[in-house]
Amino acid sequence: MSIISKDIAKAVALLNNNELVAIPTETVYGLAGNIYSETAIKAIFNTKQRPLFNPLIVHIPNIEYLENVVSYIPEKARLLAEQFWPGPLTMVLPKKDVIPDIITAGKDTVAVRIPNHPVTLELLKTLDFPLAAPSANPFNRISPTTAQHVEAYFKNNIKMVLDGGSCRKGIESTIVGFENNEPIIYRLGSLTLEDIEAIVGSVSVKNKKEQNPNAPGMLLKHYAPRTKTILSNDISQDIKNHKGKRIGVLSFKSKIKSDAISSLTILSKTGDVNEAASNLYYSLHQLDSLHLDIIIAEILPDIGLGKSVNDRLQRATSLK
Ligand code: AMP
Ligand code: MG
Repeated sequence: MSIISKDIAKAVALLNNNELVAIPTETVYGLAGNIYSETAIKAIFNTKQRPLFNPLIVHIPNIEYLENVVSYIPEKARLLAEQFWPGPLTMVLPKKDVIPDIITAGKDTVAVRIPNHPVTLELLKTLDFPLAAPSANPFNRISPTTAQHVEAYFKNNIKMVLDGGSCRKGIESTIVGFENNEPIIYRLGSLTLEDIEAIVGSVSVKNKKEQNPNAPGMLLKHYAPRTKTILSNDISQDIKNHKGKRIGVLSFKSKIKSDAISSLTILSKTGDVNEAASNLYYSLHQLDSLHLDIIIAEILPDIGLGKSVNDRLQRATSLK
């Protein structure tokens, strides 16, 4: 029997009972549990096979709730919250003592966001506690953007996926931390650098692990298909280089005609980087299921969400 259901009351009952429920958000599906339940939080790490040094994002129902989980809010954090919440912005702020150490991997900061999805907002408003919810994929695998993706990963591990349709944004939230009250981007995601800078002025990006020991989850190899994947500036040349193999191509906008290709996916026929971002993981899930020898992924223009997609593709292709 399918574990996919739209029954919010059932999700509430499971979460109240220390169980996990996968939840829809506008970015990707999350694997959610009560932040105050040690049983639930341990189950999140176990189910995902996620290392304990990788802290979890805490999902809250509204801006007022922020004061319950963080001890200090810089002015620019307040501005960003007012502008972008609910939305794909995660902020890392000094934590209150109530937040268990296992959530933050022992750090004195906690990552918080308000997701912008009607089903999950209703769920959060009904519950007496925030939800810890990392992406609902096994560690190092592609993040899920449909309830069916989660079911394929975890049908033997969890009791329910709360169905909220396809994720509108399709890649993870943008993570912003603060140093001396100034915002710093720890992870590029569904909210663009340009959008953030329009509110708070110039912001630095420490998106790479070597630049940023503060975001312990930013491993180089992440979000990866199982099929060998390479990043390409010149698709036609790379197709020639891999002649004779079963080739999948992930193209940004162009229809590429070649007998050497087994499967072609176009991220956005109109060349819209937002559309490309929202289709990225869905397309990678599909290509990864075709038993190809190689996926050749085209690099996107380095603007807006194109930057975030390129970041994910680089992580998907590293160390292979
Ligand atoms: P995920 O929920 O799988 O999208 O991953 C959450 C990411 O948030 C982690 O990999 C960390 O990089 C980041 N994160 C969570 N908590 C903190 C924190 N206290 N300080 C810095 N980064 C954090
Ligand atoms: Mg993740």
